[in-house]
Amino acid sequence: MRKKLFKSESKRLLDLMINSIYTNKEIFLREIISNASDAIDKLHYVSLTDEAARKQRKNGEINISFDKDARTITVSDNGIGMTADELEENLGTIAKSGSLKFKEQMDKKDRDDSEIIGQFGVGFYSAFMVAKELTVISRSYKDATAHIWQSEGASGYTIDEAERKVVGTDIIMHLKDDTQTENYSEYLSEYRIKDLVKTYSDYIRHPIKLPVEKRKEVGEGDNKTFETYTEVETINSMVPIWQRSKKQVPDEECFKFYKDRFYDFNDPVSVIRINADGLVSYKAMLFIPSKAPYDYFTKEYKKGLALYSNGVMIMENCAELLGEHFRFIKGVVDTNDLSLNISREMLQQSHELKTIANNIEKKIKAELKKLLEKERDKYLQFYNAFGIQLKYGIVANYGMNKEDLLDFIMFYSAKNEKLITLKEYAENMLDDQQTIYYSCGETLAAAKGIPAVELATLKGYDVLYLTDEVDEFVMKTLMTYNEKKIMSVLEENNGLVSDEDVKKAKEQTENAKELLDFIKTALDGAVSEVALVGSLKNFAAALNTKGGITLEMEKYFAAMPGENHPKAEKVLELNPEHSAYKAIEAAYKTDPEKAKKYAKILHGEALLSAGLTPTDTTEFCALVSELIK
Ligand code: ADP
Repeated sequence: MRKKLFKSESKRLLDLMINSIYTNKEIFLREIISNASDAIDKLHYVSLTDEAARKQRKNGEINISFDKDARTITVSDNGIGMTADELEENLGTIAKSGSLKFKEQMDKKDRDDSEIIGQFGVGFYSAFMVAKELTVISRSYKDATAHIWQSEGASGYTIDEAERKVVGTDIIMHLKDDTQTENYSEYLSEYRIKDLVKTYSDYIRHPIKLPVEKRKEVGEGDNKTFETYTEVETINSMVPIWQRSKKQVPDEECFKFYKDRFYDFNDPVSVIRINADGLVSYKAMLFIPSKAPYDYFTKEYKKGLALYSNGVMIMENCAELLGEHFRFIKGVVDTNDLSLNISREMLQQSHELKTIANNIEKKIKAELKKLLEKERDKYLQFYNAFGIQLKYGIVANYGMNKEDLLDFIMFYSAKNEKLITLKEYAENMLDDQQTIYYSCGETLAAAKGIPAVELATLKGYDVLYLTDEVDEFVMKTLMTYNEKKIMSVLEENNGLVSDEDVKKAKEQTENAKELLDFIKTALDGAVSEVALVGSLKNFAAALNTKGGITLEMEKYFAAMPGENHPKAEKVLELNPEHSAYKAIEAAYKTDPEKAKKYAKILHGEALLSAGLTPTDTTEFCALVSELIK
């Protein structure tokens, strides 16, 4: 028969497939299987009204086989089949289907071709990514004759009459030869085919069968040997675990599925099952992992849920389904309300997807709340792994999601000596206490070592120790919790020092102006102010800041790339009641050189208790040693 050319619009897609540099070539099998499954469904559908079809209909099944020598993989179905005209129309042109949408996207210039392939149900032509020649033998339920469609790709195709006893279609893929970079032979193995079916088509509703090699024992006693034989086995599960009811599937089984599917050695903290039947119907099985994957905090980590439609996986990581703050959640979503042939761009705008995402967000929050209130150990396990993600979630987008997340974050409580929530802090505040207090430091010890903490604890107030870099930004974003102010123990007017004491210290500072200026000069620009304060109790000196940038923020910014990071305006606070202050006061009058040295020591001390190091450590050490005489 005369060779026909592909319609021009198909050619571009075809070229793309043939010359594909796309790394995920393996999806071809998913596409061919999904067509076979559709064909079975179609025959079922027409048989409801068509007598001829009803007679032809058997229990649907898809058979895969491969031949290493001939280098072919064959996928056969007993679905609706195609007449000669349909072969021509469906395989010779890009049909009305998803492939057309694909082409439309392709026509938008300035796109990276290889990038989009994986996001579509690219269909039949994707077989050309691995095959140099395709043969389709098909017999329609409407037709007594079968037809064979053959193509080596770009040059066109032929259609002839052929033999096929029963209704259905065989797709025979003649694999390309291996090259230095591509190993096509890998698909000619039982293991690889099983693996691909498990990954992409496990939950196709019809059985996918493959002849599987087996061994059995033959003979008796000493004559025992093994014999190999093949047996046709169904290699897909057909009913996905998330489609089965909660009663049928114990959590342990879900955990096992999680570990296999998402490559984790550890059981998750919990499984969330959703069976939604509303505006959009879908089923979901979500997991809260107990440990962060090794690449979680790198760019390599991909957030998202596996998205299935009609039993076929359409996307491994659908990012649109999860808020950024819940990017640690793993799981699958299965809905029949989305088309299989949907591009990422269309997905993003998809109304259905948004509805699902909102619903999922609510369910995750409900589960976290349940764990927090009823299973604290599990919550802590989760929180240790991902708590920081929630904190970043509060700070992100100018605090847009803070209301949703603020009840899930925890801080170490000085009083309780363990992690508590803001709610728990607020519930246990003293009657006269107006403010939620916190103290920042790189470690718990450093946060505890800040002199002003003592002031709060002496009054009986709890203090939250903030040790993560992001913590202070979290507090600044929240500002209040349940109308209670959240303030650092170091902040001015935080209620820890009485107005009277503040006034007294101001007067003392005024009176000691000359000495304090001398100290500031001695420190050579390291601080912008030296002041006397009444809040230091047992400490001689402490470091505080003025303006919006605190010491913790300065450290945070300093760790970021680039130069000219914002700096805190530092204030050296001295305790006028302390013997060290008395000593510097005396030295200033009799021996200014000595007073200068004392100033440097006090400044170094203040830096150390704020978790910082003196700039010139050698000088600082020498000065301290000099004191020990
Ligand atoms: P899509 O599946 O997105 O419609 P394809 O390029 O995969 O696009 O297939 C084109 C058309 O070819 C299908 O719509 C279907 O009508 C037909 N087709 C493909 N495979 C089969 C099959 N195994 N049995 C019957 N028809 C098929």
